[in-house]
Amino acid sequence: MIQIQHLTKRFATDAGTLVALRDISLEIADGDIYGIIGMSGAGKSTLVRCINMLERPDEGSVTVNGHRMETLSPAELRSARREIAMIFQQFNLLMQRNCLKNICFPMELAGVPRDKAERRARELLELVGLPDKAKAYPAQLSGGQKQRIAIARALACDPKVLLCDEATSALDPNTTHSILQLIGKINRELGITVVIITHQMSVVEEVCRHVAILDQGTVVEQGDVREIFSNPHSDAARRLVFPAGAPEQQQMPDRHLVRVAFNGTQTTDKPLVASLAIECGALVSIMAADTRVVNGQTLGSMLLALPENPEERRRALDYIRQYPGISFEEVKK
Ligand code: ADP
Repeated sequence: MIQIQHLTKRFATDAGTLVALRDISLEIADGDIYGIIGMSGAGKSTLVRCINMLERPDEGSVTVNGHRMETLSPAELRSARREIAMIFQQFNLLMQRNCLKNICFPMELAGVPRDKAERRARELLELVGLPDKAKAYPAQLSGGQKQRIAIARALACDPKVLLCDEATSALDPNTTHSILQLIGKINRELGITVVIITHQMSVVEEVCRHVAILDQGTVVEQGDVREIFSNPHSDAARRLVFPAGAPEQQQMPDRHLVRVAFNGTQTTDKPLVASLAIECGALVSIMAADTRVVNGQTLGSMLLALPENPEERRRALDYIRQYPGISFEEVKK
């Protein structure tokens, strides 16, 4: 659905040229929910604005649903943009219009007759769970309700892609959860491809299937959410997974460390640390442990300090290597 190839975007600033995006390539499949995550200033908003050509890339290409976006004429671009809807952190509703009229607005612009637009708007109010708010004004709604109306408006012209730019960042955790559930439902029931821009790990973990991690304008890691979050390789991914700093950065001189990640494919009742002690006589220490729920599946990871005795350590490593349902890496030798 979306193909970005070798995209570079620069801005001229008082301090000289700023490279906001550097040689970004990624592919987002039809029907996916794709997260783009990174710290503030990483280039997320610029990237999403390049998808619908609100920002023009300096180099590279963006293809959405078969349209080479940077080559389109203004009229072609207007029509291609109808397939790409967007929702924002600040909702961007028209305060002088009630909810029904807000949802009708893009259909008015597209020349849809009023009756038909209102019928569609009522269906969308139903879909987002606010059938009784047709006549309410945005000021009378909570943040979560405003975002539901913004989502209904975004769906008015039957888009193929929904871009969500920090759409839950102004909401409390419960409301965030309910909006993400709604986005998941829209993806499942309407088959719309969703791109979620966020700085929050929890958002990606809850709904995204694939993720790209953006750091200083570069994609440093991309792929399946479960794989990346259970075994982060880049520094940026580790900063997101271990927000307080990767445990291995703490002071632990002279200890061999391994990170094991339970990848959720194997349900085993056999506890790894106890088995290491009983079955191969290796006493390991747990330096850090964490569990997180990703796409409804529980993933665990542990940082283990191996025995100081070389023979015992070798036995422990051999044992971990053949243990089912985990991946592991030596963090410090
Ligand atoms: P994020 O959304 O990840 O916080 P942005 O895409 O907003 O990051 O910004 C990436 C970088 O590009 C930042 O250093 C920002 O200051 C810079 N930037 C964004 N838009 C402009 C602009 N219009 N002019 C100059 N610099 C910009």
